[in-house]
Amino acid sequence: MNKKPFVTKKQLAEIIKKYPTPFHIYDEKGIRENAKAVREAFAWNKGFKEYFAVKATPNPFLIDILRDYGCGCDCSSLTELMLSNAMGLNGEDIMFSSNETPACEYEYANQIGAIINLDDFTHIDFLEKTLGKLPETLSCRYNPGGVFTVSNGIMDNPGDAKYGFTTEQLFEGFKIMKEKGVKNFGIHAFLASNTVTNDYYPMLAKQLFKVAVKLKDETGADIKFINLSGGVGIPYTPDQTPNDIRVIGAGVKKVFEEVLVPAGMGDISLYTEMGRFMMGPYGHLVTTAIHAKHTHKEYIGCDACAVNLMRPAMYGAYHHITVMGKENAPCNHKYDVVGSLCENNDKFAIDRMLPEIENGDLLVIHDTGAHGSSMGYNYNGKLKSAELLLKEDGSVELIRRAERPADYFATLDCFDIYKKMGF
Ligand SMILES: *Cc1c(COP(=O)(O)O)cnc(C)c1O
Repeated sequence: MNKKPFVTKKQLAEIIKKYPTPFHIYDEKGIRENAKAVREAFAWNKGFKEYFAVKATPNPFLIDILRDYGCGCDCSSLTELMLSNAMGLNGEDIMFSSNETPACEYEYANQIGAIINLDDFTHIDFLEKTLGKLPETLSCRYNPGGVFTVSNGIMDNPGDAKYGFTTEQLFEGFKIMKEKGVKNFGIHAFLASNTVTNDYYPMLAKQLFKVAVKLKDETGADIKFINLSGGVGIPYTPDQTPNDIRVIGAGVKKVFEEVLVPAGMGDISLYTEMGRFMMGPYGHLVTTAIHAKHTHKEYIGCDACAVNLMRPAMYGAYHHITVMGKENAPCNHKYDVVGSLCENNDKFAIDRMLPEIENGDLLVIHDTGAHGSSMGYNYNGKLKSAELLLKEDGSVELIRRAERPADYFATLDCFDIYKKMGF
């Protein structure tokens, strides 16, 4: 089975004349069509808003595309807040879903009017001490513990996750927050990651809606929004069936009408914080095969490495690879496709059956649009690659230049040694 790249070999041949490999390239058309489908799938909910998880792809050009479809930003750090604010977002367009949050980040979030989503019971007190008083609007992240299951088995293990309030803490927290003057309440939960099933959001929503009804009954809190957060997945392997956001939206609507509407809570706004689903499939890492090594295994060395895409090294994640121009050639060679780090887990693929690869072949590594470039690091002094946007008209725009050595050394610029190095 196969996955089709959104660029052709001919297009790439043109692109690499100006922008040498490796680079990430994003597909504007795909991003737009998907964002539109998300908006339509939840259009039945008047207050619906997708807060794009900035950490997935913190590029202002891409976030700007999503803003055309009403998206805000979900942030979890000072610099993500700064990026969103610099783009002209503020107030209710920004969700601050952080954890283990430093006081200065709460201060900044409050200053720009972001909605604060607390990760822990003790942060009620911490936030009050930090800001002087609690904001009028406040959200809490819920973690019911145990395992999260859908009909076909265990999806994830919230009981093992560091995030969120327990059920008792949530009820106690809402009472305290209400006493302390909070007027508008939100509930948030992220209970399973990269779910490739249309059942996750509806199952999660049902659980949260029931909790919301109970919270309102027991604490009198005015619950304004329920945030289903991220976790909607994408098919990294070619045999998986992609989620259908329209089916997901309809599934959530059904439980909304079953649980919230009869409780007189039909005006609650639904929020999401999807990252992977919004961008993942619309990014490719493009790299050139530069060495073929024949030892105890067959290795293809490429000019990208885990610095450009860490997921395979970090989680053993599968990313599909297309050898450009050899889409129809038989996959009769078994390769480890590797990068240049002095780290044996720097492998984009292990024992992967691919067409015969020659030096100079262009490889497209699929589904790098989320948690790809952003997860990169600088191990071995390797520099992060450029990001390009393939626009709807077929033209290509540079949306982040590749790092240069001077970027790597910039954190030494307060020392004399830096001047001597002469960058
Ligand atoms: C990472 C994260 C997301 C996005 O998750 P995806 O799996 O990319 O959809 C959303 N909200 C929070 C709080 C997160 O940490």
